[in-house]
Amino acid sequence: MNHALLGHEHAKTAIDIACWDVFGKSVGMPVCELLGGRTNVKLPIISSIYVGKPDEMRMHVAKHRRKGYIGHSVKIAGEPVADAARIVASLADRQPREFFLVDANCGLTVETTLRMLRLIPEGLALDFVLEAPCATWRESVSLRRRTNVPIHFDELIMSESNVIQAIADDAIEGIGMKISKSGGLTKCRRQRDMCIAAGYTFSVQDTAGSDIAFAAIVHMGQTVPERYLRFILESRDMVTVKTADGPFEVVEGRVTAPSGNNSPYGYTRRAYS
Ligand SMILES: [Mg+2]
Repeated sequence: MNHALLGHEHAKTAIDIACWDVFGKSVGMPVCELLGGRTNVKLPIISSIYVGKPDEMRMHVAKHRRKGYIGHSVKIAGEPVADAARIVASLADRQPREFFLVDANCGLTVETTLRMLRLIPEGLALDFVLEAPCATWRESVSLRRRTNVPIHFDELIMSESNVIQAIADDAIEGIGMKISKSGGLTKCRRQRDMCIAAGYTFSVQDTAGSDIAFAAIVHMGQTVPERYLRFILESRDMVTVKTADGPFEVVEGRVTAPSGNNSPYGYTRRAYS
């Protein structure tokens, strides 16, 4: 596909994960085994706490906590005073095992990030990782030199080449891996191995996605050693259309890849096949 057409990774992803599905069927093995082998980790799902008033965001975190979620992705909007209040409120009831990403989706500048971080009272010693603060590599690396807050990249990591650059620049502590932005499981498998070699932590996600996208996320996540895996994204929460049924039940905020089935992704029926 890459010889025929540069880019268009989202379109290539559908073909790539279908090929892994066919491969699994041909050898009678789940895709996670083909991608490197299964861990015994019950994969934690991360919540997505959309931008709102601080108290609303605190309640939204609490709602997910009650469902068993231990990971929370708190969204911010590029408004230093309001964002600092959102972070403080969202982390106010943090439990010992919980992990928080504060995700700006590249919406901050170096200036607004530094102002926001200074507005969080130091005495609170809030424990979070800042994800995708800035839109450009230059801003992000500049920011990193000025703060001790751990940083993950998301939108700036589109390829193995970007992972290499991040390692070379010592730019980050981890990444948000998204299967569709990277062109499928084949390329994410290499990103995974590079991240592990670099000692990066990462989450396995997609930019929203169907039941089938979630199956690919789960099988990739199931291959990542617990030490490096932060979370996976429950992409089915973000769409209303159901594309398949499969044994991917989330129990107390966790899911595992199915081990035996007539489809390597674990689906027994394809709604559109
Ligand atoms: Mg993100």
